[in-house]
Amino acid sequence: MPLDEQLPTHTEVEGVRIDVRHWIGGRRVAGASTFADISPIDETEIAQVHAGTATEVDAAVAAAREAFPAWAAMPVAERSAILRRVAEGVEARVEELARVETRDNGSLLRSHRRGVMPRVAMNFRFFADYAEQLAHPDMEVRGHRERISYDPAGVVAIITPWNAPLMLATWRIGPALAAGNTVVLKPPEWAPLTASLLADIMAEAGVPDGVFNVVQGTGTEAGAPLSAHPGINRLSFTGSVPTAGRVAAAAAPNIVPLSFELGGKSPLVVFEDCDLDLAVNLTVEQFDNAGQVCLGAFRVLVADSIAAEFTERVLEKAKQVVQGDPRDEATDISALVSRVHFDRVRGFVERAIEGGARPILGGGPNEELGGLFFRPTILVDAKPGSEILTEEVFGPVLTIQTFSDEEEAVAMANDTRFGLAATLVTGDPDRAERVSARLNAGTVWVNCFFVRDLGAPFGGNGRSGIGREGGIWSFDFYTDVKNTVFAPAGWTVAGSEEGSDG
Ligand code: NAD
Repeated sequence: MPLDEQLPTHTEVEGVRIDVRHWIGGRRVAGASTFADISPIDETEIAQVHAGTATEVDAAVAAAREAFPAWAAMPVAERSAILRRVAEGVEARVEELARVETRDNGSLLRSHRRGVMPRVAMNFRFFADYAEQLAHPDMEVRGHRERISYDPAGVVAIITPWNAPLMLATWRIGPALAAGNTVVLKPPEWAPLTASLLADIMAEAGVPDGVFNVVQGTGTEAGAPLSAHPGINRLSFTGSVPTAGRVAAAAAPNIVPLSFELGGKSPLVVFEDCDLDLAVNLTVEQFDNAGQVCLGAFRVLVADSIAAEFTERVLEKAKQVVQGDPRDEATDISALVSRVHFDRVRGFVERAIEGGARPILGGGPNEELGGLFFRPTILVDAKPGSEILTEEVFGPVLTIQTFSDEEEAVAMANDTRFGLAATLVTGDPDRAERVSARLNAGTVWVNCFFVRDLGAPFGGNGRSGIGREGGIWSFDFYTDVKNTVFAPAGWTVAGSEEGSDG
């Protein structure tokens, strides 16, 4: 939008009034320009959102630095009480948050209502509770008492993607704030609106000014200066591998610890001894959110001996997947998030087919629905090593390959530079132990999928990320872990004479 026009301050989406300005230091701050926020459902513009630059990033980091000492010094019970009020605020607005998120990123309203938004509240409640119990027992070493404590790290920068914007942001904001840090969030430009609603909820819950800040904008204009900012102490990034490389390079000169949750190309390994109904259900479940799920198991590997029956059953079930408007309760999968992403997914599928892969389901846009709707697609006969088998598509596209024995199954499953998740379906408990131990992934699911507890470690190997979050792993990242060594009373000998590891 041109600078000389009056910039809008609010938009209304699905009956919800949303402030489209930044949230810095406990107040709304206008930017110098705006960017268009387009809904994937019908490609209409639903907001002009204020676009941040280095100016707003500087202001937000300064506000977060100023707010840090008091927030860090606040007794943990008081901090946690405020975060529980944030959880209550989210719970009170589940319906609004769900409607806005659905309009903004095209994910299903029913899953936002029932699963995602309640989980957003949990992201605050769980880590508020956890922080109150956070304690490491003192250690006794050669008569010395060693006390391990978790000091807040400072200002945490959080950069997030569009596929589950509020859920992914709060899964980092919850522990970061609970640990006593202050936060600057850069939400995704393709789905920024619920971050603004979260700012309102934070203010209503009594989160002090400057403890939580939101700078909207594009990756290059707002994300890049935030990554490179010398005033941040932690950087938590969720997004794609190429962007992660740029973020890491920007943060490197400041020696800022990074947590990266990136893409995947996860396998779903179906053994001949499995419960076939379960295997079929787990396979078709991968179309959820139109395949825009980092954890999705899009490489289906099935034992030769059951491949024909399995494929037939998968096809039968996949044909029943209902594609349509995500606000409709009957819809199972909706549209892709943007025109750019749609073209990217289509490119992957077209190149795969040109290269010899055969679509046994879908294979292109949904012409009846038009717009950004891409048909659920299953490809077979993809050439080994081709990009459809190695690169993340992030769309409703599965490949099916076969293996002859367990050894080959493990080799194929691990034949990827990613390592986010792996799923195996088997009726043999020994095989479950054996194979799961050999799979290279941050999370391995045996006869289940997507079960993820906030207390468990979560993250990826290889190109899927750096570090783990969840439970104590979140606090390890969002704090400076300190060891304080108390000498025994009357002690007069230097540590080095006693022998030390340093
Ligand atoms: P993306 O990397 O394009 O963008 C992610 C965020 O980074 C956005 O907010 C974007 O504005 C910002 N950004 C872009 N360029 C930047 C730069 N130069 N400096 C700083 N920030 C910049 O990713 P996306 O397309 O939004 O999301 C999809 C990706 O996210 C997929 O690869 C998916 O697998 C991954 N993802 C991973 C997880 C996980 O937990 N492992 C969860 C969800 C999504």
